[in-house]
Amino acid sequence: MNTNDKIKKYFYKLDRRLFLDAYKESSEIDLPLPIGYGQTISQPSLVLDMTLMLMPEPHLRTLEIGTGSGYQTAILSEFSKEVFTIERISQLYEKAKIRLDGLGYQNIYYKLDDGTMGWKSFAPFDRIMVTAAARFIPPALTDQLAVNGRMVIPVGGSSGQELLLVTKAADGVINTEIKGYVQFVPLIGKYETP
Ligand code: SAH
Repeated sequence: MNTNDKIKKYFYKLDRRLFLDAYKESSEIDLPLPIGYGQTISQPSLVLDMTLMLMPEPHLRTLEIGTGSGYQTAILSEFSKEVFTIERISQLYEKAKIRLDGLGYQNIYYKLDDGTMGWKSFAPFDRIMVTAAARFIPPALTDQLAVNGRMVIPVGGSSGQELLLVTKAADGVINTEIKGYVQFVPLIGKYETP
C-alpha cells in the first residue's frame, strides 16, 4: 500500500466523534462543526484532501498551526516523525493535549501561542499545515520551511480563501500553487484576515 492509500485508510477508520464534545451525533456529516470559542473542527473531506496535498511522511517533521480539536493533528501524527502543533486558545490547547495523549499519540509537541510566528527552536519543518485563514503567508512560516518542504495554507479574506500549496526548492526558491477554494475561520494574529 502506498502512503496515499495508508492515509485514506487511517482517515476512514478514525472516528471524528472522538474529537467532539457537542454535536457528536453529527460527526459523520461532511461539514465543519462548532468546537466552542467561535472555532470549528474542519470538514472531514477537506482534512483528507489537505493531508494528501501536504504529503506527510513517517520520517519527516510537521508543524501545524491551529490545533483546534486535534482531529487533523491526529492524522498528521500517524504519518509524521514528530508533529509540532500551535493553538492560541488556551482551553482548546489544553483539551486537545489531554485528548490526544489519552488516545495514545506520543510524537506531538504542543504550544500555546500565536502560530504565525512559527516555532523557531524546532525549525526547519519538512511539512507545514495551517488550518486557519491567513491574509498573507506569514514570512516566519516560509522561513521555517525546510528545503524540499511543503506547506498547505488557506490565504484570502474572511469570505473565502484560496488553498495554497507552497513549496521550497533545493535552491531555496518558493513556488506557490492554487489548489482550491476553501472557507476557514481566521488565523488571529499578525496575518489575520480583515
Ligand atoms: N484542524 C482543526 C481546525 C480548528 S479551526 C480541527 O480540525 O479541529 C482553526 C484553529 O486555529 C482554531 O482552534 C483557532 O483558535 C486556531 N488559531 C487561529 N489563529 C491562530 C494562531 N495565530 N495561532 C495558532 N492557532 C490559531
